[in-house]
Amino acid sequence: MLPLLRDEDAAFALGGGRMRRLLLDSPAVRLEVRYAKRPGGAPLERCPVCGSPLVPIRNRTLFDGVVTLGFRCTRCAYWTHLERRVPVRYRFLRGRAGRSGVTSAR
Ligand SMILES: [Zn+2]
Repeated sequence: MLPLLRDEDAAFALGGGRMRRLLLDSPAVRLEVRYAKRPGGAPLERCPVCGSPLVPIRNRTLFDGVVTLGFRCTRCAYWTHLERRVPVRYRFLRGRAGRSGVTSAR
């Protein structure tokens, strides 16, 4: 049973990682996340949206090396470059979820 989410303030009041994880699993709710770039800081170990483990996004270089470009979540659609994207606002929208139930807004 999902609570009625009327606006962003209500969503925030109800929010927190636990609520977001709950809503991620609901096909009736779409989570829209707005990010800000925050350079520096310690490397992320867990997704700031849902708390799941992150895996590196890697790319091969010309000389057969591998470079890490950033990280992506193993569960939701969160990803970040090494210049970190930090979620600053969540909106819960009713409607069909996209892939993994998360869309990102710029
Ligand atoms: Zn995640």
